[in-house]
Amino acid sequence: MRMSLGLTFRSAKGHWVENVSQQRSHGSIESFVPPSPPLDPEKVKELQRFITLSKRLFVMTGAGISTESGIPDYRSENVGLYARTDRRPIQHRDFVQSALIRQQYWARNFVGWPQFSSHQPNPAHWALSNWEKLGKLHWLVTQNVDALHTKAGSRRLTELHGCMHRVLCLDCGEQTHRGVLQERFQILNPAWSAEAHGVAPDGDVFLSDEQVWSFQVPSCVRCGGPLKPDVVFFGDTVNRDKVDFVHKRVKEADSLLVVGSSLQVYSGYRFILTAREKQLPIAILNIGPTRSDDLACLKLNSRCGELLPLIDPH
Ligand SMILES: [Zn+2]
Repeated sequence: MRMSLGLTFRSAKGHWVENVSQQRSHGSIESFVPPSPPLDPEKVKELQRFITLSKRLFVMTGAGISTESGIPDYRSENVGLYARTDRRPIQHRDFVQSALIRQQYWARNFVGWPQFSSHQPNPAHWALSNWEKLGKLHWLVTQNVDALHTKAGSRRLTELHGCMHRVLCLDCGEQTHRGVLQERFQILNPAWSAEAHGVAPDGDVFLSDEQVWSFQVPSCVRCGGPLKPDVVFFGDTVNRDKVDFVHKRVKEADSLLVVGSSLQVYSGYRFILTAREKQLPIAILNIGPTRSDDLACLKLNSRCGELLPLIDPH
């Protein structure tokens, strides 16, 4: 299944026009959330008991929490990016080594940005933010780069793989806002137009090579170096200090809840191993099997946004 972004960009008298068609994907959550059985009241009670007993809860979230906000994940059966397309995420090495690949990447990212940046938190993000405010949540780590936890107000948060809303210079490390870069793209490419089809969990979209050959990519305003989203691409590793920081938060916790992750990627899975070493009780909320189902005392195959708001965090 392919999804149209419904976005076209045309220059009209030197001005940019954004034409958002009726095909916007926000309404079609069914496109990205795998089917799940109806909520089991007994399972809800079990999760309630798990949360009530926890005084220092550590939560780890993955792409499955954001599918209900209209962002596809990679691995879900039938509806994930891997199942729907033959496209795969960009590799870190390719991005840093090739100016051409950076040009292709940024052209697609430029087209996808207006929609990707407009996604809003769903009830699962709001529930976790509320748990933090009420003192239930010790720490939240997310594998997502969509900023939806921040938009929901979460502060005790580590974005393990960074955030698409920030841009990093590969040479001097200068951090800037992605929104500012969008304006620079528009100024540099007044006559460029493209139509995008399909969007990935990191905001990447699909364009042909012909569409991107003329796209102009700005460089760092401070040093002229190449720019990269402040995210960990596939093939790159998470900063060691950040990993150590999260390990400490896991060790301080008394229980661990996974929300919307199949735990296939080691960068998140390693915290499950730490929790197991500490013999922390582990609960997993994810539609479909995960790498750690055998380590969990509780497994729920439900929609995050339907289940979490039912839980009383007191
Ligand atoms: Zn720089």
